[in-house]
Amino acid sequence: MIKNWTKTEFEQEAYKMLYNNSIVFLKDGIERLVNKDRGDEDLIDHDLLALTCTSFQISLELAIKALIIERDGIRCILNSKQQKLGDEEIESLLKENKLNTLDFEAQKNFIKSKNYIQDLSRDEFNVIEEFQLYRNRIVHFSFKFCEGDLFDLKYDIIYYLIHVIFKVLLSRKHQDEKPSEFLEYSLGSPLHKRLMHYPPYVYAMEKLARDNSDQVFKCIVCNNRTFSQDEDYCYCCNFSTELYSMIDCDYCGAKRSVIYDNLDIELNNNEMKGLCLNCDNDGIVFQCPKCGEAHNIETRFESVCTHNKCINE
Ligand SMILES: [Zn+2]
Ligand SMILES: [Zn+2]
Ligand SMILES: [Zn+2]
Repeated sequence: MIKNWTKTEFEQEAYKMLYNNSIVFLKDGIERLVNKDRGDEDLIDHDLLALTCTSFQISLELAIKALIIERDGIRCILNSKQQKLGDEEIESLLKENKLNTLDFEAQKNFIKSKNYIQDLSRDEFNVIEEFQLYRNRIVHFSFKFCEGDLFDLKYDIIYYLIHVIFKVLLSRKHQDEKPSEFLEYSLGSPLHKRLMHYPPYVYAMEKLARDNSDQVFKCIVCNNRTFSQDEDYCYCCNFSTELYSMIDCDYCGAKRSVIYDNLDIELNNNEMKGLCLNCDNDGIVFQCPKCGEAHNIETRFESVCTHNKCINE
């Protein structure tokens, strides 16, 4: 019988330990990958792939364990004998490092049956199974990847990182956080920057942005096509347009795609350079000091405010 989940201090401690260790393996895997692989469209080094798969899989296994403890208590990851013990006994076994946990297969099925992470699809559970297999083969009998794997898995490991590991790590604690905000925070800025220049990662983020937003533009900060207009957020570098203003583009017809800086625009004769994040065309934006209406003075001449006259007055 599994006791009702009450938060005890040692469970919170165990949760924190597992979560933090999951980040340690994640960081280790990413660091090695971006340092040793240039991200070109070629094969990944065999041993580097084996090490990255293993780090990422261990990270996921720890993250899943942490998640189960956080949601339903530590007993849900223990073997049937230890589940029945009282809090004090479990706590002392934890301290002595003598807790016996269920195997990963059982834990994975547990989070699947409880539907902890709604957006983890059946396909993504299949990917977990694939990586579980790689890891087991590597650990138990030096796994040999074939040449096709060395190409495909270079992209698949990044997919795994973003679509599986992040979803588990972000599931509760950082629900409102975006993957790249979470990464910048947990990896630290220098490593996050290197990852932002790793092409398979950029490729995956471009896809994620397209999946989540109708309009995806080029980001003015990192230059990747990863800026989601719907969410006002760049999937690679976390840029948002909060401090800027946007108008429609007369060249490509995109809505609210021309960005300009309107801070202190009145000191600049109410004009500022604007750039379309969709088609890359630039122009001069005039922002009427009376009504706030703004337009590109190089493309619009009629029915607009001018320096001398506000049409809305
Ligand atoms: Zn960016
Ligand atoms: Zn445009
Ligand atoms: Zn006006």
